[in-house]
Amino acid sequence: MAGLVLDGKKIATQIETELAVEVADFVENNGYSPTLAAVLVGDDPASAVYVRNKGLACDRVGIDSKMHRLPAETGEEELLELIATLNADENVNGILVQLPLPPQIRASRILDAVHPLKDVDCFHAENVGLLVQGRPRYLPCTPHGVLQIIDRSGLSVAGKHCVVVGRSDIVGKPITTLLAAKDSPVGPNCCNATVTMCHSRTADLAAITRTADVIVAAIGQPKFIKAHMVKPGAIVIDVGINRTDAGMCGDVDYDAVREVASAITPVPRGVGPLTVVMLMHNTLSAARCQLT
Ligand code: NDP
Repeated sequence: MAGLVLDGKKIATQIETELAVEVADFVENNGYSPTLAAVLVGDDPASAVYVRNKGLACDRVGIDSKMHRLPAETGEEELLELIATLNADENVNGILVQLPLPPQIRASRILDAVHPLKDVDCFHAENVGLLVQGRPRYLPCTPHGVLQIIDRSGLSVAGKHCVVVGRSDIVGKPITTLLAAKDSPVGPNCCNATVTMCHSRTADLAAITRTADVIVAAIGQPKFIKAHMVKPGAIVIDVGINRTDAGMCGDVDYDAVREVASAITPVPRGVGPLTVVMLMHNTLSAARCQLT
């Protein structure tokens, strides 16, 4: 029997509805809306779509958003000046710098410059350190979305073997940390896993993924995880977003793997919509953190 489809879009809409109520409460109690400043450098079409979607999500939940568009040839110093201005602006609670940045700008320098309290993507070393120490200030958006899908679908990773494929700072490393943590802000079903993190140098990847109760694929390779790599009954979370001539697809060969898995996220309508909502969640958290 084909596995249960985990509808990320539906879960994202539920969370958005809850957030809109919390944001309205915040506005009533404090007299202003939480505010997100989005910074987009250059004209990468996918980045422009992501930033636009984030702005629309802000509108839906009642968060103010301010867009800062800079030309592709912007220099590092100029971008750092903008970040310093946004850091000092008490009307800005969260700062989002859309990645990737053009090659002349070192992303690490820019992300390190964002004030940790306004770092709603959870990329700053201070926030990553807090996360690794098990006392997160903010949860990184995509990994948080994965945990919300698990929790709100009535699934559990506790005591299970999770295999994360990918070791990026944005997805692979933080989701590995969160799944292996002793506890989770999301709930007891989202932590205490035994986690194996794999990458492009992993030997015999399929032998490892076949031992997984839960696979999280964050690779960036279309349909890379095949049915023979999945243990029957495993839960499969596909973080990948790949644009191909045939349209958008994930890192998992969805149709074939669904026949083996007990539950699976589709692409689109899987993890992607959660990422945007968790950014809204962090912007509200940032506004609360900055209350004087
Ligand atoms: P990165 O390119 O930064 O990292 C990819 C990781 O996958 C690397 O650790 C790499 O290993 C590993 N990898 C690549 N090829 C293989 C292979 N053949 N076998 C095993 N491991 C491999 O990507 P991201 O983590 O940023 O993103 C991953 C995917 O998730 C992308 O499709 C991206 O678009 C998507 N994404 C989706 C989001 C969402 O909201 N749903 C948000 C962010 C990303 P190594 O380190 O050895 O190079």
